[in-house]
Amino acid sequence: MITLPTLNFEYNALEPYIDQETMRIHYTKHHQAYIDKLNLVLDKYPELQSESIETLLGKLESLRMDPKDRVLLKNHGGGHVNHAFFWTILGVKKAIDHNLLNRITTTYGSFEEFKKQFTDTALSHFGSGWMWLVENKEKKLEMYSTPNQDSPYLSGSKPILALDLWEHAYYLKYQNRKADYITAWWKVVKIL
Ligand code: MN
Repeated sequence: MITLPTLNFEYNALEPYIDQETMRIHYTKHHQAYIDKLNLVLDKYPELQSESIETLLGKLESLRMDPKDRVLLKNHGGGHVNHAFFWTILGVKKAIDHNLLNRITTTYGSFEEFKKQFTDTALSHFGSGWMWLVENKEKKLEMYSTPNQDSPYLSGSKPILALDLWEHAYYLKYQNRKADYITAWWKVVKIL
């Protein structure tokens, strides 16, 4: 059975950028709801329970399961692993270390150019979803947004940065001001 991973910081640790109430609801209600629904699917497939959700998402199409359950696993498994990863980059220092900074500079020309492209892509994403920096299967950096709870693990990529673009991530404090939320997110992603 999947359980809510430990949050390594207090709900108010990201104030004033991400408020305590949003953190509490996001973690204890939204993330928990994905886990609850994920567990309902996994209960039907004991043979899948020995593998990580990341691994299952990576071979989702080849799993022997009811097509409706496959969609549920994609949505709620993605919802779980996406949030589990998201908390780690908000809570730790040095989400972007010297090595990653060098790779970003090599790939995008400069950190400022990377930040601009990442922000612009996030802003232009329509509807619920996520903005990602990933290491793809060819071990190259790649940035893109995904709809809903689609996870980079679906395409064999490893997330490096994640920005939750669902309104539940920011609506209490920022309402329709998505750009302000993204600016605030840059403040809580620890860079060096
Ligand atoms: Mn979320």
